[in-house]
Amino acid sequence: MRNTNRPGNAKTKECDLLVVGAGSAGLACGKRASELGAKVVLVDAVNPSPHGTTWGLGGTCVNVGCIPKKLMHLAALNGEILKNCGSYGWNGVRNLNLDWSTLITAVQNKIKATNWIYRVQLREKNVDYVNGFASFLDSHSMSVIGVKKKSEHKILAKNIVLATGLRPKYPSIPGSELGITSDDLFSLKSNPKKTLVVGSSYVGLECAGLLQALCGDACLMIRSIPLRGFDQQCAEMVLADMASRGVKLLKHMQPTEVEKVENNRLRVTYRSVDGKSVGSDIFDTVIWAVGREPQLAKLRLHEVGIEISASNKIIVDQMDETSLKSVYAIGDVAEGRPELSPPAIKAGQFLAERLFNNSKMHVDYEMVPTTVFTPLEYSSVGLSEEAAMKRFGEENVEVYHTYYEPFEFVIPRDERSIRNCYAKAVTERKPSGRVLGLHFIGPNASEVMQGFAAAFAAKITKEQLFNTIPIHPCSAEEIVKMTVTKRSGVLPAIPSCCG
Ligand code: NDP
Repeated sequence: MRNTNRPGNAKTKECDLLVVGAGSAGLACGKRASELGAKVVLVDAVNPSPHGTTWGLGGTCVNVGCIPKKLMHLAALNGEILKNCGSYGWNGVRNLNLDWSTLITAVQNKIKATNWIYRVQLREKNVDYVNGFASFLDSHSMSVIGVKKKSEHKILAKNIVLATGLRPKYPSIPGSELGITSDDLFSLKSNPKKTLVVGSSYVGLECAGLLQALCGDACLMIRSIPLRGFDQQCAEMVLADMASRGVKLLKHMQPTEVEKVENNRLRVTYRSVDGKSVGSDIFDTVIWAVGREPQLAKLRLHEVGIEISASNKIIVDQMDETSLKSVYAIGDVAEGRPELSPPAIKAGQFLAERLFNNSKMHVDYEMVPTTVFTPLEYSSVGLSEEAAMKRFGEENVEVYHTYYEPFEFVIPRDERSIRNCYAKAVTERKPSGRVLGLHFIGPNASEVMQGFAAAFAAKITKEQLFNTIPIHPCSAEEIVKMTVTKRSGVLPAIPSCCG
């Protein structure tokens, strides 16, 4: 890297690639580009949340998203296992209670270790990391104001990649600043106790699910439908399972005001979407999970005329290029991309390959598997039943499905959980018989789906799927054993053990 220090001026760096944002997409792109021989500068800084939470390298996934969420989901599942272990003959577990601060310390230690690993990787791969906020000066240069020393750099780059991600939104209602978001939850100093989670997408369902298990008093406010965009039969089953575990559901409601009452508690007033009923309740914590938005102001995109969409995301073409040549946007900040870490990582790696290795690869966003880490996990790849019907027509779609009984719920017998363990294969009817979507609800759904996602990407047909020899006994085998179609009208019974 060439550093040109001009007296009285900002320090100037020149590079082949300037990446703005060190989340999943930006890190992947910067590291791969450097491996391919490019001179890379990576600029990243975190705007503290309204409650002052801030973090290190790695973006949302590592610091305030997938990683802490998964660890807390596991903490919740482990609690369940401990509560039930007496049925297997393990004696001695009594008066189980959660020490919130031990959990948070353990989670934060893992995050800090990961932040450190990223720092080391960047150094090892010769990526020049600058901790600062970048703004466009012109189409090939950005000014970077350092966070700690308030130093200023001017960076001249042949290519610029914007990978600045999204941050949680706050609703525009009085008192919303009294609530927190997922940016704050995983480092919260004390047990959130009675909690209202507002919003019924991934973040909302996952937070409400794990908080019910860990703290015992979670309420989920749902404005319209759960898990918009997912298979709605599965989404409703996941929600029913959460309700059966004690999560209180406030359906078709939206908050209108939050106010502080005695003992720092929060009174939330809400009304039904049709305006016909109102209600209020007092909570210790309110979590907004009402969607995420880019924070683009500091980038000064207007300076160089980069186009943004109505939802304030950066408009890109199939190859991730923005309206300005040699400026790219990847990950959540790019319009039309799934707000998920794994496709963002792939997008970053593929972009580096295209820029510095003559590749033509780009991500196929129809092949993205995903999991909602609710108490009973829900994982899927491909189309929902309703999306397949819409795209191919009802007469051309065959849906196979089954209920099943995971071994996790046999001792002790847990009818409540078994009720919502379910698998579904959405397929195209003859002649192709192609699998259009797979859906699985049950323990370890993410582990189950990963291999099927590979088969799905290889365009597996329903014959190939159902001719696959099952592994017995496990839950994943149910996906290759389904015989009952929805069209038949037969309710699939839970299969007998070895039948
Ligand atoms: P989404 O934008 O997906 O959903 C927002 C939710 O909030 C919807 O249920 C919406 O309801 C509701 N909502 C919005 N405004 C209001 C309001 N004023 N009052 C009440 N409810 C409101 O946001 P998320 O933050 O949940 O997720 C963002 C993205 O993050 C997801 O698309 C997902 O891809 C990703 N993610 C992935 C995870 C994973 O892989 N496991 C985990 C977490 C996040 P309505 O439907 O009525 O608009």
